[in-house]
Amino acid sequence: SEPLLEVDDLAVEFRTDEGVVKAVDGASFTVDRGEIVGVVGESGSGKSVTAMSILGLVKSGRRAGGTIRFRGRDLGALPAKELRSIRGGEIAMIFQDPMTALNPVVTIGRQIVEALRLHDKKLAKGAARDRAIELLALVGMPDAAARFRQYPHEFSGGMRQRAMIAMAIANGPSLLIADEPTTALDVTIQAQVLDLLKVAQQETQAATLLITHDLGVVAELADRVVVMYAGRVVEQGDVITVFTEPRHPYTVGLLESLPRLDRDVDELHPIPGSPPSLLAPPPGCPFHPRCPLARDRCRTERPPLRAVGAAHHSACHFAEELAAVVPTEVTR
Ligand code: SF4
Ligand code: MG
Repeated sequence: SEPLLEVDDLAVEFRTDEGVVKAVDGASFTVDRGEIVGVVGESGSGKSVTAMSILGLVKSGRRAGGTIRFRGRDLGALPAKELRSIRGGEIAMIFQDPMTALNPVVTIGRQIVEALRLHDKKLAKGAARDRAIELLALVGMPDAAARFRQYPHEFSGGMRQRAMIAMAIANGPSLLIADEPTTALDVTIQAQVLDLLKVAQQETQAATLLITHDLGVVAELADRVVVMYAGRVVEQGDVITVFTEPRHPYTVGLLESLPRLDRDVDELHPIPGSPPSLLAPPPGCPFHPRCPLARDRCRTERPPLRAVGAAHHSACHFAEELAAVVPTEVTR
């Protein structure tokens, strides 16, 4: 059957004073109904721009190529009005900062009621109110009926996260997009938000695109992982396979820099070097300046994303050589 979301050869450019930045440069991946797909990469890898492109939210960027299909419909070809109705309805965003989604001068309950009635014009006020309180209770809001009447500033950070997630799932989306949902939070709240995302996903059965730089979050939540580097997808596959049998040196580097219980912090191995300038990306493989396996071919020939196993893809000329690397243990 056709995937829920199909991103094919997506390219997004930004014009700057110094030239054109290729923020996304030929990214392809799919999301099936109900599955959780983690998109990982360092900042500047193009993961957020890719997510924002799905909703047509890239402000100054230009779609330079490719297609994004949702339920078979080309989102880039939809009129703005239809895209707006999909946004917050069939596709909902979970933001890093809940205040991006919450209006400070409107009570939480009223915001959820408005979100519900915007997408279901026939929903009566009383029924919308009941449903809003139900949603707040569902995301673990204590005393939901009283909280319904309060303003965002009366909520703690964690409670705002809950309210935002209640709003995101209000219309039973089939796709949730969460951009760095845990980054700004302390470890305890992070764990709560991850639990909440699980609740939201179970309640709605929504597929989830989880954008994060944190492979630990992916290991915890995702079924599949898409690894991005310099605006391209460099590896993708199911989480267990990619974590235990990575087939791209960049993924290996990310895994080696993960903190682990059996390793001291001073044993961490951050990947040497930094991501390339997207104004003038290196020719050939964009990872070659940092890659321990790089050789001549890598400096001239761009490696295509290709199958390296069952539903496992890598964009490395020498992916097979990594089979000799000791597998990383996965804890989840
Ligand atoms: Fe490294 Fe070459 Fe593979 Fe790129 S193609 S990741 S430079 S070995
Ligand atoms: Mg980002």
